[in-house]
Amino acid sequence: MGKNESGSIDTDFLHRLVRELDIGRFFHIAAEGLATHLGADGAALMVCEKPDRLRYRFFHGLPAPYQSLAAHSFSDRLGLAGAALHAREPIFVTDYAKSPYALPEYVASGLKASLCSPVMADGRVLAILAVSWFHIPKRLPGPADTRMIALITDFVGTALHRYHTEQRLRELAMHDPLTGAANRNLFFDRLNHAMTMAIRRERLLAVITFDIDNFKMINDKLGHAMGDALLLEVRLRVQDLIRASDTLARLGGDEFALLLEDVNRYAEIETVIERIRQVLRIRWGTATLQIATSISLGFTVYPVDTGDDQTLLHHADTAMYDAKRAGGNRSLLFTNAMALSAAHKGDLILEFGRALEQGELVLYYQPMVEIATGRVISAEGLIRWRHPNHGLLSPPQFMGAIEHAYNSLKLDAWVIAEALATLARWQARGIMKKRHINLSTSSIENHRFCETLRRTLAASFAAIDPHSLGIELVEWSAIQDIDAARALIMDCRALGVSVALDDFGTGYASLQHLRSLPIDSIKIDRGFVGELTREPADRILVQSMISAAQAFGIEAMAEGIETEEQNQLLIAMGCKYGQGYLFAPPLTEESLWVTCF
Ligand code: C2E
Ligand code: CA
Ligand code: CA
Repeated sequence: MGKNESGSIDTDFLHRLVRELDIGRFFHIAAEGLATHLGADGAALMVCEKPDRLRYRFFHGLPAPYQSLAAHSFSDRLGLAGAALHAREPIFVTDYAKSPYALPEYVASGLKASLCSPVMADGRVLAILAVSWFHIPKRLPGPADTRMIALITDFVGTALHRYHTEQRLRELAMHDPLTGAANRNLFFDRLNHAMTMAIRRERLLAVITFDIDNFKMINDKLGHAMGDALLLEVRLRVQDLIRASDTLARLGGDEFALLLEDVNRYAEIETVIERIRQVLRIRWGTATLQIATSISLGFTVYPVDTGDDQTLLHHADTAMYDAKRAGGNRSLLFTNAMALSAAHKGDLILEFGRALEQGELVLYYQPMVEIATGRVISAEGLIRWRHPNHGLLSPPQFMGAIEHAYNSLKLDAWVIAEALATLARWQARGIMKKRHINLSTSSIENHRFCETLRRTLAASFAAIDPHSLGIELVEWSAIQDIDAARALIMDCRALGVSVALDDFGTGYASLQHLRSLPIDSIKIDRGFVGELTREPADRILVQSMISAAQAFGIEAMAEGIETEEQNQLLIAMGCKYGQGYLFAPPLTEESLWVTCF
C-alpha cells in the first residue's frame, strides 16, 4: 500500500492481506501496510499467554535488539501494551519517554511514539498490536486512521484466531484425544526420525507395543468410563517412567506403542520394560469390585531388526500377540520365527488339515513334579508342529492361525487321542503316571466335547482309567463363558477326569473361581512365579492363591519354576506341585522316558 495522506484504505493491500494464509507473512503485510499508512517505523505483535503474560511473536521494521525480546514473556500489566490490554482499547502516546507507560529499555532504544491496539476475538484479548515511531510523528492519527487501525487490528484478530484453531487441530491430529498420548501419525514421524539418528549415532532404538490383557473384561464389568479412565492412568504411569525424548502413543483400543530412542545397551530396554510391567499391575475398579490388570508386551530392536518403520511396528505387534497367546502377563522380543508365523499365517491355516492327517503334529511332554522331592507325578502334553519347511514350531507360532473353532476342535480331539495312546503305552510298561492335556476355548463352548471325550476313552483299546487323565482350561477362556465352563468341568469330573485351571491369577477376581468352578487344581501362572524372588507383591499374591486353594481343598501347582530359589520359596509357602525348566523342559516321549525313569 502506498502512503495515503487522505487515510482511505488501499483495496489492493486488503486483497493481498485476506489471501495470505501464513500467519507470519500475514502479519508482515499488515504491519508494513499499517506502518506505512501511519508514517511509523515498525510494528510488533505481542500475544497473550497464560497466566497474565505477554510475549513478542512477530516483528516488522524494528531494531535488532527488539527481536531478542521474543525469548521472554513479561507481565501483561507492564507498559503501554499492558494498559491497552486492560483498557481493551487502543492507546496512542506521542512523547513516549514522558508518558506514564515509559519503560527504560524502550526509551533507550529511541522509541519516540507508540500505539498499542488490543486484538480481540470472541470477546477476548488475544494479542496487542504495537506500532512504533523512532522519530517524532509528522501528524497525529485522524478519524480515518483510527478506522484503518481498527480494521487491521480486526484482521489480525481473525488471522490469529484461525492460527490458534489450526494449531489446536494440528495438536489433535497428532494426539489421541482420550489420553493425550501421541497418535499413530506422530509415532511414525518420530520413529522415522529416530531410525535415521540411530544409524548416524550408532545407537539402538526399541519399538514396544503393549495392551491390557483383560481390557474387555474391565469395560464389561466396570463400564466404559472406568475403562477410559484406566487408559489415561496407563498413559500417565508409563509417561512418568520414560524420558521426555521417548514417545508414547495410543494406537487404538487398549493398544499402546512406545519408542525408546538413543539406547546404548540392550539391558536398558529390558529395564524399562520390566518397570512398565510393574507399574501397570493395577487393581482397577471400585471398593467392591476390583480387577487386576496385567499387560502383554512385544518389542523389537533396531537396527538389529532391519525392517522399515511399518515392519518394526508390525514385528513388535507380532511378538505382543504371541505374548498374549502364551497366556498374557509377559513380554516377548520379536524373533524371525515369529515373522514366519505372521507371514505364513494364511498358509498355516490351510496346511493344518494336512499336518493333522500326515502326522506332523507331536505332543511333547513336560514332567509335573512334587517340588520338594522332584518325583514325577504326571506329564503335561504340549503340542509341537514338525513343519516340513519351517522346522519345529511351538504353539505361539501357529496356535493363533488355527484358533478358528473348526480346527481347534479337531486339534483337541487329536490331542486327547494322542495323550490316551501314550498313556496306554506307558501303562503297558507298568508306569502308572497321569497325563495332562490343554484344551482350547472352542471345546469349552462345545457341548459335544465331553461326549467325544467319553467315546475316545471307551474306544481306546487298553482300558484306560479316566482318573489318569487331567485337562487344563486356561482361566481366561474359562471365565469368558463361566456357565459353559462349569458344565464342562462337572461333565469331565463325572467321567473321572480331573480339571485344572491353567494360567491362574491372570483372569479377573481369580480367587472367586476357586469357589464357583468345581476344579481339582490351579496352575499358578508362570508370570507370578518368575517374579517371586524379585517382587514382594507377587510373593503375597502367590501366597494368597496357595492358601485360598488349600482352604477350598484344591491342589495348587506352580508353572515355570526356573530356579532353586523360586522352588524353595514355593515349598515354604505350602505349594506341593509344579513344573518348569528347573526340573525339565518339554521333552519328546522318548526323552521323557529316558530322563524320568
Ligand atoms: P501353558 O499350558 O501355560 O504351557 C506352559 C508353557 O510354558 C509351555 O509353552 C512350556 O514350554 C513353557 N514352560 C514350561 N516350563 C517353563 C519354564 O520354566 N520357564 C518358561 N519361561 N517357560 C516354561 P509352550 O509349549 O510354548 O505352550 C504355550 C501355550 O500353548 C501353552 O501354555 C498352552 O496354553 C498352549 N498349548 C500347548 N499345547 C497345547 C495343546 O495341545 N492344545 C491346546 N489347546 N493348547 C496348547
Ligand atoms: Ca497348560
Ligand atoms: Ca499355563
